[in-house]
Amino acid sequence: MSSSTSLFEVRNLEKHYPINRGLFNTEVGRVRAVDGISFSVERGETIGIVGESGCGKSTAATSMIRLEEPTAGEIDFRGEDITEYDEKELRRFRREVQMIFQDPDSSFNPRMNIGNAVAEPLIVQGFDDEQRRRAIVGDLLERVGLSADDMNRFPHEFSGGQKQRIALARALAVNPSLLVADEPVSALDVSIQSEVLRLIDRFQDELGLAVVVISHDLGVVQEICDRVAVMYLGEFVEVGPTEELFTDPQHPYTRALLSAIPTPDPTERGLGVELTGDVPEPSDPPSGCRFHTRCPEVIPPEGIDLAQDTWRSVLHLRKQVIADQVDLESIAEVGAIEAGDEFGSMDEVEAEDIDNDRLIGWVRQEYELPNQLGDTSAEQTLSQALEELVSGQQEAAAETLTERFETVCERQDPETRSLSPDHRVACHLTDDSVVGSTDSENEYRRQLSSPE
Ligand code: ADP
Ligand code: MG
Repeated sequence: MSSSTSLFEVRNLEKHYPINRGLFNTEVGRVRAVDGISFSVERGETIGIVGESGCGKSTAATSMIRLEEPTAGEIDFRGEDITEYDEKELRRFRREVQMIFQDPDSSFNPRMNIGNAVAEPLIVQGFDDEQRRRAIVGDLLERVGLSADDMNRFPHEFSGGQKQRIALARALAVNPSLLVADEPVSALDVSIQSEVLRLIDRFQDELGLAVVVISHDLGVVQEICDRVAVMYLGEFVEVGPTEELFTDPQHPYTRALLSAIPTPDPTERGLGVELTGDVPEPSDPPSGCRFHTRCPEVIPPEGIDLAQDTWRSVLHLRKQVIADQVDLESIAEVGAIEAGDEFGSMDEVEAEDIDNDRLIGWVRQEYELPNQLGDTSAEQTLSQALEELVSGQQEAAAETLTERFETVCERQDPETRSLSPDHRVACHLTDDSVVGSTDSENEYRRQLSSPE
């Protein structure tokens, strides 16, 4: 049952785009742009959605207000499920919910003056009295920091920041209760971003407006949001009160995003986590936890006790072996050159000519693995896999590594758990039944939670 207090509540919202191929336009896959997100917004509350480009923020925005039809999910507005609305009900809903976009130019007709542009939604809603319309528009323009006289001017006469103010005025013309702002300041100079954000914040206060702000920029959401949802590959990995999320982030992805915020004092955020690699394709998301392919905190299998760095190196090697991307020839070449071996020509540097043990040593070097892992059982597996690899049995090596070094992060989709009524996170690290069952895992977790 839906909660009776939320203005807007989204449950398990999905938006998939089919990928069709061939003569018969057969569906061969789907882009899981939004893959089951849930959240609510209270009256007068500002919630932020953050995540890297391509994670599904814009799709979430347009499908949560049915500008695009969602694939699945429930969306309640004032307790009514808007996915069941007919055309007429949708029109009424569209008056209550307004959207502003990143590029203010795209929202204005260059040949329509600002007064008419701002009045447009009023006309659509059947506001016939022109005199009154002009009064409302003039008042709105003044509220967003322009003058009523600007009504007769055209879009090109305004700066980007001013245009975004005008877009805001137009969105507010019909007195909505919910505003969805998709990257509202990303196209603006940093110097004026704050002004526009403060304006949104002020309206939120004065009009009791609920706001969903979408941004790839954590600084933006930190400035005006009460709560923040962190999105990764179509899912929310963490949702919590802004302050709490910024001071005590629970998901490694949130931590990585936070540590990427430039600060004047580089020692201030000691985590030093760097997000590497591209966001995987939403048409083929990784198994288990979708973030595991980039996660700096992947949980080692039970009974394996390695330093975090070493464990990451093992995982990296494993990934490359499975993808058959370990380039033994060039590793041998580089190794030989660095060792000062003399060869008549590069042609002679072939994997077969090199002693297996030496080659294994170079592979270890290349992948930043020590010559001997501290954990005996891990070392056994690694050296067996490396033997297999250098003797041309890539598949066997892949199997050896997969079997022993498989982590819960790739095997199991983490459940979303509540840390407090307001703060939830989907990561195995916060699950005591996954971590914390052995001493080494406890130790691992302790290392993670106390950087340096
Ligand atoms: P964001 O706003 O976070 O940058 P988007 O919502 O624009 O992300 O896109 C999410 C994913 O969905 C991307 O992989 C994008 O390529 C894909 N996508 C967006 N719109 C469509 C569409 N109309 N058809 C197919 N794929 C789409
Ligand atoms: Mg977007």
